[in-house]
Parts: sequence; C-alpha cells; structure tokens
Amino acid sequence: MALNPGPGHRRIPCPLCANGIIRMASGGGTLQCSNLKWKHSGFSGGHCTFTTRDRNSIPLKPGERLVIRDFSPFAFARPAD
Ligand SMILES: [Zn+2]
Repeated sequence: MALNPGPGHRRIPCPLCANGIIRMASGGGTLQCSNLKWKHSGFSGGHCTFTTRDRNSIPLKPGERLVIRDFSPFAFARPAD
C-alpha cells in the first residue's frame, strides 16, 4: 500500500547514489538508503553505503524540514497560502 503523507511532502533521494530514497532502518534512529548494501545467509544485494544517525546530514531544500510519517522520512515544506 502506498503511503500518502499529504501535500507538501516529498521523498528524499539518497545524497550518495541518487537512485535510492532515504528510509528509516528497522528499530528507528538510523536513516539509510533504500538501496543499501546488504548480506545475509550467503545472499547479497544493494550497492549503496549511505547510512547516518545525524538527521542534519540529510540534504533538504530551503524551507523544508525532515519529518517522519508512518516510519518513513520525508522532506516537508508547508504549502504556500
Ligand atoms: Zn544510496
């Protein structure tokens, strides 16, 4: 089911690979690329290494702030009125 967080929200592209989007890791606290490199039980995938616990390191446009909606991070800018 696609999450619809409402107007003014946009998903944040990964600043490292520009292919993935920024997601919150399970357990919360850590933000990481949706294409994050992984390895488990002999399988592996992904290609990116972007992960951070510092929300200030997530690039946003002027006027935007980082918000978490249903465990997904978005850049949010209040729509002009
Ligand atoms: Zn990435």
